[in-house]
Amino acid sequence: MPNIALLGSTGSIGTQALEVIERLPDCRVVSAAAGSNDERLQEQIETHNVQRAALYDKDAAQRLQRRTSVPVLGGIEGFCQLASDPDVDLVVNSIVGAAGLAPTLAALEAGKRVALANKETLVVGGHLVMGYAEQIVPIDSEHSALWQCMQGHSRSSIDALVLTASGGPFRQYHGDLEAVTVQQALRHPNWDMGGKITIDSATLMNKGLEVIEAHWLFGFSYDRIDVVVHPESIVHSLIRMTDGSYLAHLGAADMRMPIQYALTYPHFNPVLSMPLDLTELTGLHFEHPDYKRFPCLGLAFAAGRTGHSMPTVLNAANEIAVELFLDGRLGFLGIAELVETMMARHTPVENPDLETILALDRQVRDESRRQALSLKGRLTQP
Ligand code: MG
Repeated sequence: MPNIALLGSTGSIGTQALEVIERLPDCRVVSAAAGSNDERLQEQIETHNVQRAALYDKDAAQRLQRRTSVPVLGGIEGFCQLASDPDVDLVVNSIVGAAGLAPTLAALEAGKRVALANKETLVVGGHLVMGYAEQIVPIDSEHSALWQCMQGHSRSSIDALVLTASGGPFRQYHGDLEAVTVQQALRHPNWDMGGKITIDSATLMNKGLEVIEAHWLFGFSYDRIDVVVHPESIVHSLIRMTDGSYLAHLGAADMRMPIQYALTYPHFNPVLSMPLDLTELTGLHFEHPDYKRFPCLGLAFAAGRTGHSMPTVLNAANEIAVELFLDGRLGFLGIAELVETMMARHTPVENPDLETILALDRQVRDESRRQALSLKGRLTQP
């Protein structure tokens, strides 16, 4: 009976993870952590009989502590403690952003298995977690698909990993991308996800981050990782074998599937939704991504290839750019422009440790906010 610490419990992946765990008789959530939503976390504590909790926002943690008898820790230290508690077997990390790295490291160092939905752990700290690769299982749907396809095959039999991308809401948009609204960008064609990742899907930055994630998770060089746009989101990813054939993973666009597999690996559990009806498919289409209209994908490949501290800069600048876009303070094309500007300015630091990464993350965020103010014509004042 694995005892689970669920970090990021009130977000999109966190709530779906709770739904999955509820149906798995052998799993229970012993601790849960969230950013600042103390009311939602309180409901989860009561509904799921959670024994310990943490909130990143320390004021929210104090508020919740006054209303519950379970201990409520505050700050990232609280997350790290929940991730390394002795009675925890598995940590589900669905924190959004670079803040997820420290709890992942705490869990891995304490010998826990980590079901990872926090891409930033691998994007900014891939070199730090590589010694623990055996303890990490992916939740991201593409990586879960790759992982499932790769089982039983030697690395030397695999020519390339092929990540599929839906192409987002603007794949076939012929208007001026600069003029698109937040509402248009939030309209993802296939997946229902949180705000940050939905904007990242519209810019293709999400796929770029996933390329870096795949590089670290599976130890493939960037030359052996391809991205193909697949608008139906039925094929979740493929591996190309050295003989030229492909192995693919197909299924409905339902995040509960990869979440469940990460928890029950190597076993498959009964389906949560109706299985995909192959006869209802009208076609499966694949096309090259448009690197010109969606420069974030190329920027991510470049940051990955440079490595060291560059992906931290890519990620921090992008987080701020997305935040400003969602606030209506930066145009859609300003996202890539800001990321590119911040990367161009940065001199990579070799093999940065956790402290260096977190300090650089803060620094780039501050500088990105200032830099955004000078992006001519890209910024709409609120
Ligand atoms: Mg994904």
